[in-house]
Amino acid sequence: MPSSIYPGSFDPITNGHTDIIERALNIFDHIYLAVVENPSQKTLFSITERVDMIRELYKKNERVTVESFTGLLSEYVLRKDTSAVIRGLRVVTDFDYELSLAHMNRKLNSEMETVFFMASDKLSFVSSSLIKEVARYGGNISDYVPSLIEKNLMLKFKALNNL
Ligand code: ADP
Repeated sequence: MPSSIYPGSFDPITNGHTDIIERALNIFDHIYLAVVENPSQKTLFSITERVDMIRELYKKNERVTVESFTGLLSEYVLRKDTSAVIRGLRVVTDFDYELSLAHMNRKLNSEMETVFFMASDKLSFVSSSLIKEVARYGGNISDYVPSLIEKNLMLKFKALNNL
C-alpha cells in the first residue's frame, strides 16, 4: 500500500497517537504526519515545538515524514501523492464527529478516503487534553506519552508557572 496522511493537532503527541501510527505502518508504506496549525485554536505547544518533538521521535524512521499545514486538509491532500487519510477512533463518541468530518472532507475533495484505526483498549481513554490536565498538576503520565513528551510537558508547565 502506498502513502497515507495522519492529520491532527498533536498537542502533544501521545501513546494513543503513536499506537495508531504503528498500526497504520503495518498497512501503509509511508505516513505523512500532518500537524495542523490553526491560528484560532489555542495550543499549549507552538506549531514548531509540536513538529520538532514528533520529528525527534521518528528521526530514525524513514517511513514517517512530519510536516505542518494550515488551511483545509482537503487542499493539503491535493498536494500529496495519496488521498488516504488516517484518523483514530477511541470511543463511540469520537464516531459522530469523525463521520461528519469524513463526509465534509469528501464533499470538499471527492478523492479523499478516510481510513479509521481503532485505538488499543489500554489507550482508549488517552487524549492530549487529559494528559495536559494531569501533567499541569504534577500527575504521573509516563504510561501515556513518550518520555521526550513527558519531559517537555514538565518543562512547559514549569516555565508557565514561573511567568
Ligand atoms: P484533532 O484536533 O484533529 O482531533 P488530535 O491530535 O486530538 O487532533 O487527534 C488526531 C486523531 O488521533 C483523531 O482522529 C483522534 O481521534 C485520534 N486519537 C487521539 N488520541 C487517540 C488515542 N488515544 N487512540 C486512538 N486515536 C486517538
